[in-house]
Amino acid sequence: MRLRVLGSGSSGNATLVESAGVRVLVDAGLGCRELSERLDAAGVDPASIAVIFLSHEHQDHARGAAAFSRKWGARICGSRGTYAAAGLGAEDTAGYDVLEPGMPRAVGALSVRGVPVPHDAIGPLAFVIEADGCSLGHGTDFGHVSRGLADGFQDCDAVLIESNYDPAMLREGPYPWPVKERILGSRGHLSNDDVARYLLRDLGAPCRMVLLAHISQNNNHPELARMAAETALRRRGRTEVRLELTGADGTDWMDVAPAAGASRGPQQLRLW
Ligand SMILES: [Zn+2]
Ligand SMILES: [Zn+2]
Repeated sequence: MRLRVLGSGSSGNATLVESAGVRVLVDAGLGCRELSERLDAAGVDPASIAVIFLSHEHQDHARGAAAFSRKWGARICGSRGTYAAAGLGAEDTAGYDVLEPGMPRAVGALSVRGVPVPHDAIGPLAFVIEADGCSLGHGTDFGHVSRGLADGFQDCDAVLIESNYDPAMLREGPYPWPVKERILGSRGHLSNDDVARYLLRDLGAPCRMVLLAHISQNNNHPELARMAAETALRRRGRTEVRLELTGADGTDWMDVAPAAGASRGPQQLRLW
């Protein structure tokens, strides 16, 4: 399995995930044309995207979803709440499938499970994507790491998690106080400190890559996010974990692979 972030942050979020020729997007927060161009640049035919998994209805995640779905035939999949809140009528998309809690959706070799997260949207989700005997946890936009999310990501080989703001920069920054309160709240966004706490307490043993995403351009600095996460990983003795950051321009392809020697059930068994 491999992934490529096409864009991350308030200007638009989208991640491409691929395994055995099957491709899905997590979020489509860029306009349809921009999204199509970024896929082209990655050498990917937009028509080959099978499903867009929508985390929630906010524009920086959903902006291009309906238009992209209509143009290229990708179905959309997300919670019942996202469907209602995004205002997607039957004629607006190539089809919408509700992701029921605890019920994974299979797309070819990929299996995608929704994990509810605390965010000020209707029915927002993080996703656990499995294929090839390895898994990716993909979570942005939540105010704290709930028990359910920490447990949901426990067995993941790679975790993409938002590191949205530095608390001091947010408090001293230009946003009006009600907006600051919203971001700081338990259903707002995750700070660098929250991520550090997650890495210290809850990062699962199989994880070999952490990708920091949705880093605010106004209330954070990539180096502050990196430092907080690096320090936490070092304190936890997890220096084998590769730490990456992504911004508005996304990333190159990144492989998600299980840790060497890890046993993952029948797919990993070799019978001599
Ligand atoms: Zn967002
Ligand atoms: Zn949001």
